[in-house]
Amino acid sequence: MTLTDRLSIRRSLFLSTALLVSGAQCVFAQEKNPAELSEYYSPVPEIVTPGKTSSDAPSDAIVLFNGKDASSWAAQDGGPVKWQVGDNAITVVGGTGTIHTKQGFGDCQLHIEFREPSEVKGEGQGRGNSGIFLMGRYELQVLDCYNNKTYVNGQTGSIYKQLVPLANACRPPGEWQTYDIIFTAPLFNEDGTVKAQARITVIHNGVLIQNNASIWGSTEYIGTPKYEKHGPKEALVLQDHGDRVSYRNIWIRPL
Ligand code: MG
Repeated sequence: MTLTDRLSIRRSLFLSTALLVSGAQCVFAQEKNPAELSEYYSPVPEIVTPGKTSSDAPSDAIVLFNGKDASSWAAQDGGPVKWQVGDNAITVVGGTGTIHTKQGFGDCQLHIEFREPSEVKGEGQGRGNSGIFLMGRYELQVLDCYNNKTYVNGQTGSIYKQLVPLANACRPPGEWQTYDIIFTAPLFNEDGTVKAQARITVIHNGVLIQNNASIWGSTEYIGTPKYEKHGPKEALVLQDHGDRVSYRNIWIRPL
């Protein structure tokens, strides 16, 4: 074998190795790159420390009622709340009127717990009636519908006189119950017409009862619900319907 032959063999060995390596890289690149094209690293979601249980406020929530302090709330006349604070709860005192948050809210995640009076009195809409008015207008009904019949678009978990809940997930009176609510505020055009209806998802005691449902307008007792232009943030209101309904663990995450 001449020197030229040996050099030629060495060159072809080098070339085939290089081809193998670049071939492998090519295969590797083909396997990895297309996936990487759909992988993003920003914006990084904020770290939120969850509560110990689903009742406890996550680290970024605004605690509206912790069982003792009702200072985030005002009475209907703007003064201090006249409802009864005690026993780790705030309880409706019939005839004193609604209470509302001092702060306004729009899109939000709201956790609220309620308890129907253990002494069962009245029937239909007269049993443990209260309500959670999102933006002060859109009522998520609070009622004792454990073995209590009423019109279905007015039962527990309805958007009052509008949306029937997907299930009746009521616990017996006297037991604490939870609502986990995801609310999207309505949007209005300059001329006051509706650009996008409000939307609501509600989980009652772990059961989905409103699934991203469109709200037709402000809650009306008589007549058709309709929208009237309002601000992007409005107070949350709890209803006094005369019954001794209690609330606790109220926290909200503006979205
Ligand atoms: Mg009500």
